[in-house]
Amino acid sequence: METFEPGIASAYNTHNFTEGEEGIKCCTCPRVMTIYEWEEKRRCFCQGTNVVPARARSAPPTRLESNRTRASFSRSRQNNIVPPIAATNSTINSRSTTNINSTRTQNHAFSNKFMAIAALILFSFCVQPVLNLFNNLSLQLSQSRLQIPPEQFMKNYYFKINSSKYEQAWEDLSPKFQAKSDLMPYGKTSYLNFWKSRRVEIESINLVDQKSNYAEVNIRLRYFAQSRNLGSNYISYTLIWNSSKNNWQIDDSKLFN
Ligand SMILES: [Zn+2]
Repeated sequence: METFEPGIASAYNTHNFTEGEEGIKCCTCPRVMTIYEWEEKRRCFCQGTNVVPARARSAPPTRLESNRTRASFSRSRQNNIVPPIAATNSTINSRSTTNINSTRTQNHAFSNKFMAIAALILFSFCVQPVLNLFNNLSLQLSQSRLQIPPEQFMKNYYFKINSSKYEQAWEDLSPKFQAKSDLMPYGKTSYLNFWKSRRVEIESINLVDQKSNYAEVNIRLRYFAQSRNLGSNYISYTLIWNSSKNNWQIDDSKLFN
């Protein structure tokens, strides 16, 4: 098939041929008609009727040219945008810009990494301890809000004893206190036998010290057997916080008098 140069206008100037397009080439003059123009006029602008089908083809490239260069060359010719030289320059420019950009990106990435490390150091050395402190404080606060006052715990304890709820009272003792053989040589049996015949009145109660999991309460107790006054004791109780029971427990006692 005959070829003609892409980019030229058709014989009746209704169309500009692009690469690969088919047209009707006049054999009398160098004009090319579109198929539509030929169908309509059946003659060339020069009145010639001797025509052949032809296809718009750019000049065959030399063997050294790569396909890519050829493609971009024909594209730029066809679109009349940039001559190949300008295209090459712009390629170089864009490549060097890319290099600069990638250097910038690397610098950016580096500073980002640096900032991340700095933030981590700041976090672990400054923020984390503050957060820990805050957590501890809020834990203590929430615990102290939940904890019943140690004095109230002791009042409840003696109320259980006076109500003969010895089993419940026994549970208010820590395992360590339950095992105190000097006070209770037979363990729980000694405990039950001691309280079965007694009741108590709290004469005074004072909170001496309180931490989140520890408290010290001083109590003056008066003992009664039936209505008989057995005298009074001044006792210092050490309480520990049992988080699983969510209550205080008597952990130790010391008799003053
Ligand atoms: Zn013609």
